[in-house]
Amino acid sequence: MIIANAEWEVMRVVWAKGQTTSGEILEILKQKMQWSPSTVKTLLKRLVAKGCLQAEKKGKRFIYSAKIDEKSSMDRQTDDLLNKFCQRQHPALLEHLLHTSSLTLTDIEHLQNVLTHKKKHAAAEIHCNCIPGQCRCKENMEVF
Ligand SMILES: [Zn+2]
Repeated sequence: MIIANAEWEVMRVVWAKGQTTSGEILEILKQKMQWSPSTVKTLLKRLVAKGCLQAEKKGKRFIYSAKIDEKSSMDRQTDDLLNKFCQRQHPALLEHLLHTSSLTLTDIEHLQNVLTHKKKHAAAEIHCNCIPGQCRCKENMEVF
């Protein structure tokens, strides 16, 4: 399921807090998002409808908790990002991410191990996975 950017801001608070209320979410995000209470309530309603959150009524207010896992949601967001680009652009995208990310020596060593493993199973070439007309790959040009 697609989680919109504004909804993602809310999900991050819920994951960090475990259980939270619309008031707490508003308080935490007030600097960053300048939302009104009704905006937060609308987003929460939407996330419950999508099955991302569950709402439990306690007294007069609702307590929200996550129904989806943070790590797999992060992976899904990354997959969505990669799917926006031609597979042939993925190496350039990864290079950009490496340049812009803060990495510890441990992180770098871990990534080097990943690359060493990838090297053993390297693809001879990367195939374009775009629909015709959405990229300038040679493969697509040859089809038309
Ligand atoms: Zn392509």
